[in-house]
Amino acid sequence: MSACIFCRIVTGDAPATKIYEDDAVLAFLDIRPITRGHTLVIPKRHATDLDELDPAMGATLFSFGHRLAKSMRRTGLAADGANLLINDGRAAFQTVHHVHLHVIPRHRGDTLRFAKGFVLRRPHDTERTAAALRSGLDRLAEEERETTA
Ligand code: AMP
Ligand code: ZN
Repeated sequence: MSACIFCRIVTGDAPATKIYEDDAVLAFLDIRPITRGHTLVIPKRHATDLDELDPAMGATLFSFGHRLAKSMRRTGLAADGANLLINDGRAAFQTVHHVHLHVIPRHRGDTLRFAKGFVLRRPHDTERTAAALRSGLDRLAEEERETTA
């Protein structure tokens, strides 16, 4: 079994609350969220850091992160924005050494709540949060179908 916790999540050997997956990427809730809905998007194939990450995979990773950030505005979370972030390398505070893109929902005027969340890092209502995020992705897909119809 892999020593990498995120590889173990990919293979189903470690638990995670999954939001989305396809052949290339997996998105799941961060166990220590800064805000409700804080999600990690990872490549399914292990890459320790950006040095190891195939650039096409980097584009795929961002592409899904972009989609997820848009969908967060469409869920019960009703986000007004999002922080998308990669900590690349120990020097940049990377603690899990499998590349991951943080997608952190934000709300207007949430600076204090964000600062508190940054310190406490407590999970909130995991299943309802995951359901809201999944329905946001469905809603975005529906909107896209309507605009191309
Ligand atoms: P960093 O490497 O600093 O960008 O952050 C790693 C992130 O992974 C942190 O936000 C952790 O809370 C999160 N994390 C660590 N282990 C798990 C896990 N088993 N499932 C979900 N999130 C995790
Ligand atoms: Zn890994």
